[in-house]
Amino acid sequence: MKYVVVSGGVISGIGKGLTASSVGVLLKSCGYKVTAIKIDPYINIDAGTMSPFEHGEVFVLNDGGEVDLDLGNYERFLDVTLSRTSNITTGKVYQEVIERERRGDYLGKTVQVIPHVTDCIQNMIEKSAENAEKPEICVIELGGTVGDIESMPFVEALRQLKYRVGDENFCSIFVSLVPQLGVVGEQKTKPTQHGVKNLTSMGLGPQIIVCRSEQPLLNETKRKLGLFCQVPPEAVVSVHDVKNTYNIPLMLQSQGVTNQLIKALRLVWRLPSLLEG
Ligand code: ADP
Repeated sequence: MKYVVVSGGVISGIGKGLTASSVGVLLKSCGYKVTAIKIDPYINIDAGTMSPFEHGEVFVLNDGGEVDLDLGNYERFLDVTLSRTSNITTGKVYQEVIERERRGDYLGKTVQVIPHVTDCIQNMIEKSAENAEKPEICVIELGGTVGDIESMPFVEALRQLKYRVGDENFCSIFVSLVPQLGVVGEQKTKPTQHGVKNLTSMGLGPQIIVCRSEQPLLNETKRKLGLFCQVPPEAVVSVHDVKNTYNIPLMLQSQGVTNQLIKALRLVWRLPSLLEG
C-alpha cells in the first residue's frame, strides 16, 4: 500500500479536500486503484452531532456512517464507495483506546499518546486502506491546520507510518496560502515557508507544495518557494481561484503533478492518462 498525505497550513478551508480528491483522480488516471481517508482531529466521534451551520451538511455514507462533507467529494471524484472507517476522528481513536484499556488489553501498561494512541491511529488507517476493494494507493487528508495541538498525535502517527512503509511508499503534500496584497502586489511566500518548516520539523517534509492563491503563481514565486522549502520548482503548484472546482484535477495535471507523484511514489504509467488532450 502506498500513501499520499495531504495536510495544510496557514488557514483552514484552503482546499485540502479538493486537492486530495484531485490527486486521487490523477493517480486513478494512471491506472491505479485509489481509496481515501479523512482525518478529523476533533473529539466528536463523528459529524452526526455537529451543527451544519458550523460544519456544513453531514454526509451520510452507504453504511450509514455520518461523516464530513469531504468524503462526498472523494466518492464523486474517485467513483468509490467509502465506509465509516474512512473517517477517523480523535473521538473514534480515544474510544477504541479506552475500550481496550478497560478490557485489560494493555496488560497493566501505562497507556500513553505514544505509542498507544499513535499505534491505534496507524491500525485504523491500515484497516481502512486495505479494504475489500483492494486499493493500491490511499490518499489521506489531515483536517485542520498543521501545528494545532489536536492534530499532533496524527502527525506523529503519520511520521511513524512513513518510517514503517518507507519513503518510496509515502508522499507528503502540503497545501498552503500565498496571499497577494493589492491588485498587482507581490505574492507572499513567508506563510508557506513557515508552514513547511513546521511540517518538516515533525518529520513530514513535503515532496509537493500546493499553493492556493488568487492569481496563478508566478515562476519567480515557485522558484523562491522551491529554494526555501527544499523542493524543485516543478513541485510547487498553483491552485488559484476557479469558478468550477471540478477543473482542479486538470489544473494540477497541466502543471506536471502526475509526474511528481509518479516520481515520489516510484509508480509507472499503466494507462495513457485519461486527462490528456
Ligand atoms: P479544506 O479541506 O482545506 O477545508 P476544501 O477543499 O473543503 O478545504 O475547500 C474549502 C472551500 O473552498 C470549498 O467550498 C471549495 O469549493 C473552495 N475551494 C477550494 N479550492 C478552490 C479553488 N481553487 N477555487 C475556488 N474555490 C475553491
